Amino acid sequence: DEECNLRVAVRIRPRNISELTIVGSEDIIRVKDKQIIVCLPKNNHQTVCVDHTFNYDYVFWSVDETNPFYSKQEDVFVTLGVPLLNSAFKGFNACLFAYGQTGSGKSYSMMGKNMCELNDIDSEDFSGIIPRFCRELFKRTSDLRKECTVSIEVSYFEIYNEKIHDLLASQTQTAPRIALKVREHPTLGPYIVDLTTHTVNSYNELRNFLIVGNKNRAVASTAMNEFSSRSHSIFTIEIGQSKTLNDTDNSKRSKVSLVDLAGSERLGSTNNKEDRMKQGVYINKSLLTLGKCISALAEQKKNNFIPYRESVLTWLLRESLGGNSLTSMLATISPSSTHLEETLSTLRYACQARTIVNRARINESPHD
Ligand code: ADP
Ligand code: MG
Repeated sequence: DEECNLRVAVRIRPRNISELTIVGSEDIIRVKDKQIIVCLPKNNHQTVCVDHTFNYDYVFWSVDETNPFYSKQEDVFVTLGVPLLNSAFKGFNACLFAYGQTGSGKSYSMMGKNMCELNDIDSEDFSGIIPRFCRELFKRTSDLRKECTVSIEVSYFEIYNEKIHDLLASQTQTAPRIALKVREHPTLGPYIVDLTTHTVNSYNELRNFLIVGNKNRAVASTAMNEFSSRSHSIFTIEIGQSKTLNDTDNSKRSKVSLVDLAGSERLGSTNNKEDRMKQGVYINKSLLTLGKCISALAEQKKNNFIPYRESVLTWLLRESLGGNSLTSMLATISPSSTHLEETLSTLRYACQARTIVNRARINESPHD
């Protein structure tokens, strides 16, 4: 067994046009090694008037390329993605999820910029952790195949309004998107009924599935405003390795979940129910429950009840949170005072997540 805390990283994206042009918008984030300091804006009218300091496992400054500490896509992948890949090959489950308000850079970090076309997905500058992870996976697999049998299966789905939609199912034009259900398998745990899984033998094959899934995501976003900010997307890779040693079969398997969460903004900012109704603000049950689970796990009380079953996302990610998995979280924020409240709420959430301890073990047979 390997006991380890949930690893937490924070990435600060560049300022966007509106943050550059809004009067009174200023940069409030300073980074000192692995520490983030939120400096309150000069025109602050709030009661809080001290700067806030937070510590993390990694901090990625991606605000200005001229900064010597600037972190590009490849840097983020090397720091967060490669360790997960290493553990996956050893037979551990691994999970990475991106958390932050809409527009803070979750999808950019996880998938990249415009990842619906073949030409984009391998872009050295723009492709994100997922395509890089998959490329590296097959690079390593080709060596490994000399000594054992390796199988790689992928699935890709999203959760919107507590309903699961397969992003890789062959869809007929007229059929409405079917919602899939979660069930509990007595030994294997929760699984999605009828979710398609696809065996892939090369990076190019895998890449095609990524593109199909990304396109399906984009279609849903175009059809419904706010879809992309309210939905969670989960890309799963299952790696199996087996070889015969002294007439006994030895096999290892590992499940890697790469999760782009829904925007976190609706949790913190509007707690008032009436306001929510007025603004038509929707409560994201999965995200809310994820927060509850993280809080309960962070308390580290023995026999503390963790409400995994209260939402689809947490039910499915149970093992990744406080279970058998090496898990990392990437929190994404804006550098600007325009988003002060959301940024503070993301940074606090990320700090709390850091205290969670997982117990990862190698998924080996004949041992289990
Ligand atoms: P989210 O998925 O959190 O809603 P996005 O990933 O879509 O946010 O990012 C919002 C915008 O900011 C996009 O136009 C994206 O290209 C840009 N962006 C985000 N992070 C970065 C970054 N690190 N470097 C450059 N542009 C970024
Ligand atoms: Mg997004």
